[in-house]
Amino acid sequence: MNSIIQFASRLIRGQTADTDAVHKFHGGVHPDGQKQQSTSAPIKKLAIPERLVLPLRQHVGYIPKIKVQVGERVLKGQMLAEAEGTLSAAIHAPTSGTVAAIGEEIIPHPSGLPDMCITLTPDGLDEWTTLHPVDWRNTDKKTLVANLRSSGIVGLGGATFPTHIKVRADGRSGIHTLVINAAECEPYITCDDMLMRERADEIVKGMEIVKFLLGAENCIVGIEDNKPEATAAMAEACKALPGTSVKVVPTLYPSGDARRLIHLVLGMEIPHDKRSTDVGVQVFNVATVLAIYRYFAYGEPAVDRIVTITGSVNSPRNFEVLFGTPLQTLIDAADGTKPGTTHFIMGGPMMGFDLPTIDVPITKAANCIIAATPDLFAPPPPAMPCIRCARCADACPVNLQPQELYWFSKSDNFEKARDYNLFDCIECGCCTYVCPSNIPLVQYYRYAKSEIIAADKAKEAADLARERNEFRLARIEREKLERAQKHAERAAAGKADSAKTADAVKTDAVKTESATAESAKTEQAKTAPAKPATETPAATASADDAKKAAIAAAIERAKALKAAAQSAEPQKKPATADTAGSSQPAQAEPAHAAEQTEADQAKADQAKKDKQALIAAAIERAKAQKLAAAQAGIAPRNVEDASPAVKAEISEIDAIREKARQAAKAQDSDPEA
Ligand code: SF4
Ligand code: SF4
Repeated sequence: MNSIIQFASRLIRGQTADTDAVHKFHGGVHPDGQKQQSTSAPIKKLAIPERLVLPLRQHVGYIPKIKVQVGERVLKGQMLAEAEGTLSAAIHAPTSGTVAAIGEEIIPHPSGLPDMCITLTPDGLDEWTTLHPVDWRNTDKKTLVANLRSSGIVGLGGATFPTHIKVRADGRSGIHTLVINAAECEPYITCDDMLMRERADEIVKGMEIVKFLLGAENCIVGIEDNKPEATAAMAEACKALPGTSVKVVPTLYPSGDARRLIHLVLGMEIPHDKRSTDVGVQVFNVATVLAIYRYFAYGEPAVDRIVTITGSVNSPRNFEVLFGTPLQTLIDAADGTKPGTTHFIMGGPMMGFDLPTIDVPITKAANCIIAATPDLFAPPPPAMPCIRCARCADACPVNLQPQELYWFSKSDNFEKARDYNLFDCIECGCCTYVCPSNIPLVQYYRYAKSEIIAADKAKEAADLARERNEFRLARIEREKLERAQKHAERAAAGKADSAKTADAVKTDAVKTESATAESAKTEQAKTAPAKPATETPAATASADDAKKAAIAAAIERAKALKAAAQSAEPQKKPATADTAGSSQPAQAEPAHAAEQTEADQAKADQAKKDKQALIAAAIERAKAQKLAAAQAGIAPRNVEDASPAVKAEISEIDAIREKARQAAKAQDSDPEA
């Protein structure tokens, strides 16, 4: 009966899609869709504003490199900033005009902080640059992916992941199924819904290109069952693309999460530590494939997107908005806000964030702007203690234990939170949505994640510093060893030189000995009879013996000469004096020298005695002179200790002196003297 009702329902909706093979994931919530307000009018192209502010940071990854200067005129589609690094996306001019400024402006981010932006003043001409459509069917995939890198296209579902990263240049991606995410599960957002309703053919053409780039065999479009018109349009358009089907999935938040959608349409649960590509599935947003089609078919880079403006505005609808358009322009296009509007939310009410100011531009991530009032979004009541009801666990689509994660995050037990797979949390907010205690659980998870990431980065930096230090120490140690090795080598070289010198000395000694022996041999040869021309062994032995005897004789002679020289050395002088010109033989010299030595010794003894006597006499004389001087009044006299002989001598000296004085007087008195 149920299947009949479902089939009838599909017929009523005009669906040709398959809903039978849809699977259910754990958890999820059913918030009020609030989609009808913005789907009553078709997509409208927003007029070119007076000013465009293009943040460089509009995607996940590195900011692009600026290619223009202030004052430069640019054309629509001209590249303003080039993708820098692998994970980056280019920025293009949304219309023709002049670069008015390059500097910091407030960007749509929860922090409300400014970031680098290019400000453009449109000239109103909307003049395109030269566009280069690509014949993708006849172009190699490597070129296509390189082109895609220049397109500036990112995931337009809100993730803003650079699209060229998701396709492999070699075509060997291993992807067998392309899943088109058209679930659009967040309340209020209808941009994808309207896009499918109005541009299904172009979307399917984009799917064909992506399928070709991935090498995928199958393609499945996953649409929630609250979009019957879009489903019908896509089902019709998909007939043109073989191997493609549309699957209608139940309206259940967060069906639009890539893993949840894969589970819904394929029944595959991807392990938490794996990616969808690991199991051969790649997911593209429906708006992204449309942008890819326009780029390859017309050469148009990413310059605009469909944005839903809804909530507390007078005319909620979807607009085709140039990137960089001020939010105020969009609000004006929606005929302004209703009374009581307090703030604006970018994204959906589940995963979006409150804009810090209205003075921000529309970026690639801006799929929806909701004008909020307290009636629509009542401020959360004060949080109360957790009552362990486990409703959060029932609602969690990732099968986590949100209440445990909450406790660990609140108590800063981050490692425990990590152990409980905190990083598997997709921050969908289902747990917060169902919590009866109004605990802002997702905020706790974001806090814990940021703390863990910061700690990991600090640890990484510390590890890097430690590695550097270890490397430095290793280098110092290596240099020390190298120096020691060099020293050892130098020392070994020095030893080798010494050994060489010693060998040389030894060789010289041997040579000298040899020469001596040779000399002796010559001497012997002189006295020996002439040898026969040929020598027998016996004759040779006899010659050796003779040689040895000659050497021994020579050594003995040398010894005798040396001993004689040593013994002759002390008497060399006298002997020379005595024996000069003597014809006595050398053998008589030692006896003569001995006699001479005894005589000299006696003489020396006598001389010593004489010297001592002379010294004693001199002392006595000195004493006597001293006494005489004292008696003459020249010096104090102290003759008490003098011997009688001294005293007599003193008296004699005194008498002589007296005589000399008398004579001097007499001479002085004689004028002729
Ligand atoms: S839903 Fe709220 S109160 Fe209930 S267990 Fe989870 S955190 Fe606690
Ligand atoms: S926010 Fe995280 S913990 Fe909460 S339901 Fe979603 S995935 Fe689970």
